[in-house]
Amino acid sequence: MSATLKNPVIKLKLLIDEEKNKVVFVEAGKDFVDLLFSFFTLPMGTIVRLLEMYKKSQKIAIGCFSNIYASVVSMGIEHFLTEACKQMLLYPGSLNHEKCRNLKLRVDDSEATKYFVCPKFVEREQCTESYSNFNTSRCSCGVLMNEVTQLDGRGGLASAGNGVEGGVFVRSDHTSFMITDDLKVEITSVRLTLNVLKDLGYVDCEKLDEKIHDVNLEEVPTLLECLSTSDNPLTDTFLKKKSSYSTKRIQKLPSPGLCEDREESTPDQTITLNVVKKEGNILFVECGDDFVDLLFTFLAIPLESAWGIAGDGIIIGCIGNLSKSFKDLSVDPGREAKCVLPHYYKCQKQLLDAVTTHKPPTFYLYVSSMASNHIREYRLSEDSSKPLVYFWDELMPMISIDPKSKGSTNTTDESTIPSGGFMKRGTKFMITDDLIITPLNSTSTIGLVKEKQIRLDDVEVQEIIIRKEEAIRLLQASLVTCSALSTGLLAIESASTSVPQSANLKKPKIET
Ligand SMILES: [Zn+2]
Repeated sequence: MSATLKNPVIKLKLLIDEEKNKVVFVEAGKDFVDLLFSFFTLPMGTIVRLLEMYKKSQKIAIGCFSNIYASVVSMGIEHFLTEACKQMLLYPGSLNHEKCRNLKLRVDDSEATKYFVCPKFVEREQCTESYSNFNTSRCSCGVLMNEVTQLDGRGGLASAGNGVEGGVFVRSDHTSFMITDDLKVEITSVRLTLNVLKDLGYVDCEKLDEKIHDVNLEEVPTLLECLSTSDNPLTDTFLKKKSSYSTKRIQKLPSPGLCEDREESTPDQTITLNVVKKEGNILFVECGDDFVDLLFTFLAIPLESAWGIAGDGIIIGCIGNLSKSFKDLSVDPGREAKCVLPHYYKCQKQLLDAVTTHKPPTFYLYVSSMASNHIREYRLSEDSSKPLVYFWDELMPMISIDPKSKGSTNTTDESTIPSGGFMKRGTKFMITDDLIITPLNSTSTIGLVKEKQIRLDDVEVQEIIIRKEEAIRLLQASLVTCSALSTGLLAIESASTSVPQSANLKKPKIET
């Protein structure tokens, strides 16, 4: 019995075309649909990290996202505003994280959000009445806030949606779903079954065979990978085929937005393009911290929001089909393009205005202490009236500290002042067309010109203002192409950009 608890499985009924060795469709319960929908709640950075973790041998590229993530990995800590900034980009936090813990199978191995307070809190008067989600923040008394606390009362929030039966993401008034090989999810019905079969060209069920399959944890990363890399994710995952390649393309070319037709220009939102004249593509850009903050924010955006903001006009594997089903069958019909990130992603300048941050909750700290041996335990509670053993007569309200701000001795409500972004202010960066981001220096510039074998007089310098439209186009291009800057900013499909290493990735096609 314990084996099932340790190794949970989800039962599926596969309908297989034996001749073609292909899954026609799958009949599944809520657990499996929830698993599929949960992929959309994963931050892009988490998807990259998971895919790389499970597939060590072969690099899986979602457009340029692997490069953005790799840039965070290799960027020295001295270039970030605080240590927490690098941490929150490598392991992006998600407001759906608690919900995902209720899934029968989940792919994300991220730890639950942690809460830290100053270990000296009860002894010192000058301590800030704050908690932090990172153990690298400093209290106003100067001590690292590294005392991890338990958070009570999360049960209510974490429990499943509205349904009695408890679907995590899927509306739970139905128990059986049909999922086609290209990830269209619908509620099972006889009529639907017949229609799907007819649409696929089956006149009878001679060659079709039913098979019960137990989905285990090992198959989940494959399924996540196939979502973006395959046009037949179920066949490729459950019949272990690696035959199909995903369609990746831009249907609508984004229109370029060069400086001329813009009235206002704020100097720090302008980036310098180094364009190869002959080919017209961007060799690299020079930019300041705000632009890098924008690209790094992409990692914190969940797939559903990235798709909501930038998915219009692009095709990546079966993401579009599953996204539509998610919207139709979600517990929360308001799930839309609005992207709410945990509060610590708040940047002073948020170029992507569809991205907002969650207001950090106020928690109440109570301290239980055993006087005899001076063992103290801090706990945080959502509920100010919770009658438990505590040290003070009243519970201390604790606000969240901004882990992006350096610990200051000033307690005047630090958390309300928006800090900068993730990067140290005033730093200049160089970004290649495929979004490899490094601090700017002459060595890297010369190296790149050499590597690409470009004549110096063939490089032209242009300036461009980055505003909302450019930010959206960049996100769109980053999802699909490996020449995100040229495609997103100049609407050029570059021929000379680096070819993706993944054999599964087709060169993006552009339809006009
Ligand atoms: Zn303190």
